[in-house]
Amino acid sequence: MLVTMKELLEVAQKNHFAVPAFNAGTGQLLSGMMESAEEKRAPVIMAVHPDELKFLRDSFVSSVIYEANHTKVPVAIHLDHGGTYEQCLHAIQLGFTSVMIDGSLLPFEENIALTKKVVAAAHPLGVTVEGELGTIGQTGDSIEGGVTKVTYTNPADAKRFVEETGVDALAIAIGTAHGIYPKGFVPKLKLDLLTDIRHAVSTPLVLHGGSSNKDEEIAESVKRGICKINISSDIKFSFMKGVEQYLNDKGFEREPNVIYPSCIRMARDTMEEKMALFHDVDQVKCFSL
Ligand SMILES: [Zn+2]
Repeated sequence: MLVTMKELLEVAQKNHFAVPAFNAGTGQLLSGMMESAEEKRAPVIMAVHPDELKFLRDSFVSSVIYEANHTKVPVAIHLDHGGTYEQCLHAIQLGFTSVMIDGSLLPFEENIALTKKVVAAAHPLGVTVEGELGTIGQTGDSIEGGVTKVTYTNPADAKRFVEETGVDALAIAIGTAHGIYPKGFVPKLKLDLLTDIRHAVSTPLVLHGGSSNKDEEIAESVKRGICKINISSDIKFSFMKGVEQYLNDKGFEREPNVIYPSCIRMARDTMEEKMALFHDVDQVKCFSL
């Protein structure tokens, strides 16, 4: 069932689990995500970054909507890191049920103004809006971007941001980075800061850069109120490892439907690990669809 992200996150917040937002990247990841979501009875979000949308073409959105409308699992389609008002409007026209407007690199007041403008366009159409405050780090190899030095989210600013913009979900910076961390680098989440932000705002909180963080920290962040976790690099890594492995083991092959099933299986294993870690498995039971 196609739903808005707000519907997913309200239930997740109430029942203390996090919904994974898997980045599309390639159509095979949509197939894998749907298979895992149905088998695990786990609500999911298909996240599509503007660069991914350009690669997959606008028609990809129809495939996601078709899949969502032909399953009993609640599924939202979400624009990941919308960079401009126009990008968000385009996504809404295509049928996205949720958009993120990322004004995190703008000065605070400008971030508020831009986010507010997107909320004003999205809410009358029933579309969810995610904003971002603070900056997510980057590891240099992800399309989602990020900055070299993380600016942690300030709880008082978060409160004001949410009140003034009316966003339905807020991405916060507590020490994660986009991409896969370099060898030897150990990211450390500021979990006490997460608790402070949770106390300051009641809006569902989102964690970006959730790939390759320590499992215990991610599990703890869910306990402390994170309702959505973005996973991009980890599933793409597994998928492409599958491609590499297939070609190394079997040699050249031309038929996609011969190569990809094992690669989809490997991406699915990673997706299902995340679903379990986020307590997302079997949560379809919490929805009255
Ligand atoms: Zn992100």
